Amino acid sequence: MLNFDKLSLIDQIDENSDELIKLHQDLIKIESVNTGYMPTGDETNVAEFCSNWLKKFGIKSNLLSRVDERANLISKYPYSGNKKKLLLMSHLDVVPVENYDKWEFEPFSAEIKEGKILGRGSSDCKGLLASQMMAMAILAKNKIEFEENFTLISGADEEHGGRYGFGWLLDNHPDELRFEYAINEGGGSPVTIGNNLYYLLGTGEKGRLEINIRIKGESAHASVPWMGKNAMGSTSKAIDNILNFIPELDCSTDIFNYLSLFGIETKPSIQNLDLIIDEAYEKNPSLGSLLRALSRMTITPTIIKGGIKSNSVPEFIELVLDIRTLPNQNDKDVEKELNKLFEGIPNLSYEIDYMAKPNSSPFETDLLDAIKKSQALSIGRDDIQWIPSVSNGFTDSRFTRELDVITYGFRGTHPDDNPNSENVHGTNENYGIKSLISSSKTMLGTIWEMCKPIIQ
Ligand SMILES: [Zn+2]
Repeated sequence: MLNFDKLSLIDQIDENSDELIKLHQDLIKIESVNTGYMPTGDETNVAEFCSNWLKKFGIKSNLLSRVDERANLISKYPYSGNKKKLLLMSHLDVVPVENYDKWEFEPFSAEIKEGKILGRGSSDCKGLLASQMMAMAILAKNKIEFEENFTLISGADEEHGGRYGFGWLLDNHPDELRFEYAINEGGGSPVTIGNNLYYLLGTGEKGRLEINIRIKGESAHASVPWMGKNAMGSTSKAIDNILNFIPELDCSTDIFNYLSLFGIETKPSIQNLDLIIDEAYEKNPSLGSLLRALSRMTITPTIIKGGIKSNSVPEFIELVLDIRTLPNQNDKDVEKELNKLFEGIPNLSYEIDYMAKPNSSPFETDLLDAIKKSQALSIGRDDIQWIPSVSNGFTDSRFTRELDVITYGFRGTHPDDNPNSENVHGTNENYGIKSLISSSKTMLGTIWEMCKPIIQ
């Protein structure tokens, strides 16, 4: 009886797929572009749209905001007990369109082509938001009661540090985020090798630091360069050292304990790690690249600025680096590496700015079991293999993990869609309709497994 009800509810997602697609398109059409410089984002427009849409199903929302135009949407499921079990997370903002001319379609028109919905934000993150809203709506429409509560929170400003979104909620309304479990973007990509299907569940994130380097010189007229000191000399040494940086290898993240599932039988160690990564590249290039990122710190120069006039020796040069750290590395480890790289380079100073601390949640939990069951049902496969993975990027999950909320990055992507071709943050962003539907089913199934439905 119980199982029958869940299946019939999941069927309703197929029956309502036109409405789900329309919802997703409507969300894309509201331009909530976050440039990182205020005033920006205007997430309140999306939050209000969502609030009105959910109201039709008896779901009330609360909008909490640091500034009026940048609201966070908090929608609590109405037919449940108060125990806060599961948080459905996503974000309302999108990154800017860098070069309109390179896009093959209007970035905010949300047109459909070859089974995909096209547009900025379609994949990141309005697809997940639409799927979570639809799962919630179907449960509410059928007035399904649960012993324990689930709530949807979609934040502002995810794309620029969360200082108006989840970061702000953590500092000012932490109780809103205190759930036992949470499910968010940032993981859950399908990987196919031969006939085998794997999902990489996002259990953690690498840290990100921004390093601002200042290299001093002494200006002079360029016709008598010996009268000054050209900062470019030290800069070129610094860049050369960074580009030749040889990171320490590390195979302590969880994923390295699961390589045999990919048919890699050698037990990984520091000595054989590079060979193992080569083997992984041969099986699947995305897997190889992932293992490479999860086995080392990366240091990448991204911005260089200097010189004010074509006939002046520059007084100083600024260089910006992007650094990604593993969950067991801290700012002391970063400092150690930087001091090695810059040893003996005169007039160079730097400042470290922490953008995101590395973070992680345990892998074997009730939420993993619920997701496994739900994804199997939603895509009709019972042979999926599950692997914990740390993501290269970071999301709002770092804020909930700070409160010990077990948080997974899992979207429920359909295996026929390849997340690598969604062009997240790039030109021609798109999202597969199959994934929109499977994600909605997975969300509904996961809520059902976690929150204890009351069946009369
Ligand atoms: Zn995102």
